[in-house]
Amino acid sequence: MSLKDHLLARIAQDGPMSVADYMTECLLHPTHGYYTTRDPLGAQGDFITAPEISQMFGELIGLSLAQSWLDQGHPERFVLAELGPGRGTLMADMLRATARVPGFLDAAEVVLVEASPTLRDIQAETLKDHNPRWIDSVADLPDAPLFLVANEFFDVLPIRQFLRDGDGWRERLIGLDGDALTWGLGPLGEQVALKDRLDDTRDGDLVELCTAAIPIITVIAGRIGTHGGAGLIVDYGDWHSQGDTFQALQAHERTDPLALPGQADLTAHVDFEPLALATRAAGCAHSRLTPQGVFLERLGITTRAQILAEPLGGSELEALTAAHHRLTHPEEMGNLFKVLALYPTPSSPPPGLEP
Ligand code: SAH
Repeated sequence: MSLKDHLLARIAQDGPMSVADYMTECLLHPTHGYYTTRDPLGAQGDFITAPEISQMFGELIGLSLAQSWLDQGHPERFVLAELGPGRGTLMADMLRATARVPGFLDAAEVVLVEASPTLRDIQAETLKDHNPRWIDSVADLPDAPLFLVANEFFDVLPIRQFLRDGDGWRERLIGLDGDALTWGLGPLGEQVALKDRLDDTRDGDLVELCTAAIPIITVIAGRIGTHGGAGLIVDYGDWHSQGDTFQALQAHERTDPLALPGQADLTAHVDFEPLALATRAAGCAHSRLTPQGVFLERLGITTRAQILAEPLGGSELEALTAAHHRLTHPEEMGNLFKVLALYPTPSSPPPGLEP
C-alpha cells in the first residue's frame, strides 16, 4: 500500500486530519516516510542546507560552542549533541575544527537525536571515528552539561494551522475529495493556546502552532539551565510569525504539499517566540534572535573564507565565494535564517550572539 492509499484509508476511517498528523505521516511513516526512506540532501536531492553548502558553517558553530565551554570553566565531561544531523556533515565539521581546542574532544560525548534509520546509517559512516551514540528523543539526553546544535530541525516538526473566524478559530484540515487529498476547515471553536492571538490578528488570518517544539526546547533548556552548556538553534523563521508558511520542496522546487505525500520535504517557518518563552520558563537564558549572516560575520566567516581561498583558483574559488555569499547575504540565507542561543543564566551567550 502506498502512503497516499494509507492516508486515504485513514481519513476515510477517522475523518479529516490536522496538518501536524499529515506531516508526521509523510515525513516519518516507518516504511514510506520521506526521511525514513531516503537521504534528501544535496544537489541530487530535494534541498540543500548550510553545512552542505560549506564547511565554514560547522567550523564556526563548533568553535562558538567550544569557546562557550571554555568560558564556563571547561567542564571535564559534557554532551555534544545535535538534533536531526542529516548526513552528519555539520557534526563532522564541528569536530574537525574543535580538535584544536585542548581538552574539548576528550571531554565530549557525541550524542545524535535522529528519527531516520537511513540517515543514521549515513551519520555512522561520516562520524565513524568519533563513536557517536544515537537516541530517539531529547528526553534521553544524559544529566550533564549540554552543548547542542540544531540546524533545520525545528522546521520539520509538525505544525497545526488555525484560521480566525470571528472570535474563534477553525483548524485547517486535510480531507478527501474522491480519491484525492483536499483542504478543508474544522468546526468553529475556542483555542486556549491562541487566546493572545485574538489581539494581533483579524478575521480570516491564519496562525500556526508548533506544539511539538515546546517539550523538546523545555528539556534542552532544563539541561542547560541546570548543568550548564549552550544550545544553538538555527532555522528559517522569525519572531511571532503569522500566515501560512507550510511548504513542500522537491528537487529544489516548491510543490503542492498534498500532491505527493512522502515524496517531498514538508516544512514550516519556525516561530522563535514560543521557543524563547519556553526556554525562560525552564529557567534558562536565551540570546537575542540574530540573523544567520550577522552571526557568521561576527564569528569571522570572511577571514575563514580568505584563508580557504588562498590555494584556490578558477571554479573552486568561485564556489567558495558563492558559498560565503549564500550563507551570509541578506537576500540569500543571511536574513531568512535566524540563530537563537540558549545558555545558563549567570554566563554570557556563545560568541556571535548578544544577551
Ligand atoms: N541538520 C541537517 C539536516 C536537516 S534535515 C543539516 O543541516 O543538513 C532534518 C533532519 O531532522 C533529518 O536528519 C531528519 O531525519 C531529522 N528529523 C526529522 N524529524 C525528526 C524527529 N522528530 N526526531 C529526530 N530527528 C528528526
